[in-house]
Amino acid sequence: MSTQDPRRRIPRTDRVLAEPEVVRAGTGLADAAVRRAVVAAQDRARAGEIAPEDVVGAVVAALTAQSPSSLTPVLNATGVVVHTNLGRAPLSDAARQAVLDASGYVDVELDLRSGQRSKRGVGARQALLEACPAAEDALVVTNGAAALVLATTALAAGREVVISRGEFVEIGAGFRLSDLMESTGARLREVGTTNRTHLADYRDALGPDTGCLLKVHPSNFRVAGFASSVPLRELRALADEHGVPLVVDVGSGLLTPDPAFPDEPSLSEALEAGADAVIASGDKLFGGPQAGLLLGRAETITRLARFPLARAVRADKLTLAALEATLRGGPTPVARSLHADPERLRERAEALARAVGAEAVPHDGRVGGGGAPGVPLLGWAVRLPEAAAAPLRLGTPAVLPRVHDGACLVDLRCVPEADDAALADAVRTALEGLR
Ligand SMILES: *Cc1c(COP(=O)(O)O)cnc(C)c1O
Repeated sequence: MSTQDPRRRIPRTDRVLAEPEVVRAGTGLADAAVRRAVVAAQDRARAGEIAPEDVVGAVVAALTAQSPSSLTPVLNATGVVVHTNLGRAPLSDAARQAVLDASGYVDVELDLRSGQRSKRGVGARQALLEACPAAEDALVVTNGAAALVLATTALAAGREVVISRGEFVEIGAGFRLSDLMESTGARLREVGTTNRTHLADYRDALGPDTGCLLKVHPSNFRVAGFASSVPLRELRALADEHGVPLVVDVGSGLLTPDPAFPDEPSLSEALEAGADAVIASGDKLFGGPQAGLLLGRAETITRLARFPLARAVRADKLTLAALEATLRGGPTPVARSLHADPERLRERAEALARAVGAEAVPHDGRVGGGGAPGVPLLGWAVRLPEAAAAPLRLGTPAVLPRVHDGACLVDLRCVPEADDAALADAVRTALEGLR
């Protein structure tokens, strides 16, 4: 290497790390991440991609673009309310604040008055029982699938779970509830056919090997036409005859019936119809954090809570905080999006269309992974050229539109009104890039 070799001028790592600009840009990032950025910039200088004098600037630029988490907030402009790829339910303001408050030390298992250890998550449990008076007790676990595995394992490991063939649900990404239950040692005893199951089918299957009766709401599909299933009340009577517990997985987590979604079962209805334990997700129509909710009779819920697997699927403090605040705070974003006034959606879509020089068109939203398949939510969207979709996704803020029929549709249903101006800017920027 001659003395003229510019590589000799590449600053050493400790010198770059000590630069005040680098220290500032690296605040809040791990030391290792800062060091990696320095090494990467030095490598680029060594390869001749940047001048040695530009190493510090490159490090600062890299660190400024970095956030400790790679998850990027997205404006959901698809019109799909419970969007699995976008993290399902967005949390309410109250729940977000509760998560923040609970993120440090918090009295999750401590009674501040007595200074003694307390049960975990008493506040969330209390809020659930108040919201659902038909339940005697409640337990919160990590997600709906965990709740289902816990219930079937605790009640039927080594024995049979009796379930209708019409209720074999694949919940997405290739996961089947049936495989899930069998993975922990319960055997499925299938009864009836895909389209029709009768009380007699259940009766014939019940015996000394029965661990529990299970009814699963087929949340993401509908069997229409020549179809029938057995109402919960009749299953309750049958379960009583045989002294077996009745478990109901309602999926979406509506607390009480919603007239807009007459086919969606609610936790309250299932409990009133006599379920010993009802299971639901916390982050579908319930509108809260990812969680599995188990509500029901005191005896059954206690049995589940004491089963060893319960410890492996227990909810963390952030979930418990968000769940309680979801129940005690104002309406959830999911509820607001589901019940958005179509007239207001039209006004917002027309305002956006005017601002960006495009056209507003009628557009049906969807409930999404949370349930009510096939039920349209009347609304509006702004129609853009299909090519706008990619720059919208990659912009700041990131915007996910719906690409359909050769168009890019921007639906405002799930966009908070406070973000309308930011959305308009994002659309304008994306369209300018196309010119
Ligand atoms: C979504 C769903 C599940 C799984 O719940 P997760 O919270 O996604 O784990 C289980 N059962 C039914 C009926 C569902 O709809």
